[in-house]
Amino acid sequence: MALKVFNFACVNGHTFEAMVGSEEDFEKQKKAGLFTCPVCGSSEVKRALSAPHVKTQAADEVKNSESLDSLSDLFKAIHKILDDSEYVGDKFADEALAIKRGEAEERVISGTASQEEVEQLREEGVDVLQVPVVPKNKVN
Ligand SMILES: [Zn+2]
Repeated sequence: MALKVFNFACVNGHTFEAMVGSEEDFEKQKKAGLFTCPVCGSSEVKRALSAPHVKTQAADEVKNSESLDSLSDLFKAIHKILDDSEYVGDKFADEALAIKRGEAEERVISGTASQEEVEQLREEGVDVLQVPVVPKNKVN
């Protein structure tokens, strides 16, 4: 998945991380009421931080997280966003690179990639987060 991790805060003061393709995607999903706090369900959510290095750091923190509670919240957020993502299957690496280079429309994509492809993408500066989930509507 070429998803960027952003930090969010809801109106009730919960902070959480979620992955979206871009700030524009977030605004779109928020407007549609699809983006809600995983703790209380409030749709009054705003971006907490936006610096690029923060996104990378957040992704590392998520990967290193041992908290099942936060992982469960994370997976809920991932599934919500995957529902709106475009599944590109094994063309993920090509597509993510095209988006990064501005050769394809910027959007949230999901799919599969080899470890080698993921490393190449990271070298190109593409935010990739590997998660052990399969888009639930794509299973079978
Ligand atoms: Zn909340």
